[in-house]
Amino acid sequence: MSTIFDKIISREIPADIIYEDEQVLAFKDIAPKAPVHYLIIPKQPIATLNDANPEHQALLGHMMLTAAKLAKEAGVAEGGYRVQMNCNPDGGQVVYHIHLHLMGGRAFCA
Ligand code: 5GP
Repeated sequence: MSTIFDKIISREIPADIIYEDEQVLAFKDIAPKAPVHYLIIPKQPIATLNDANPEHQALLGHMMLTAAKLAKEAGVAEGGYRVQMNCNPDGGQVVYHIHLHLMGGRAFCA
């Protein structure tokens, strides 16, 4: 099923894009919960983490490494940051196209 993130990938709707390569796109969250709040999404639609399989292993790793790279570039790596993926309603997932939240620039409680 198509989501708003597919429309961001295809440029049907605008987003503040931070980074793009063949596998992933990263853009600013429209409702940021931290001074730095990026979403890192695969170009390939995978609805939830439950739908990922071993074929996605490298892609999931690439998403994590992209988060670390973008945290460094945003200047929040040394202070620290949070990387989060929500899954299904109890996990707080709203958009059913997997994404990492990269949040930094403020302290988070445990
Ligand atoms: P989830 O709750 O699914 O883990 O997170 C979805 C995130 O997508 C939310 O933080 C929300 O603010 C963000 N979001 C939803 N729609 C849009 C949009 O159209 N553009 C951007 N940049 N972010 C969006």
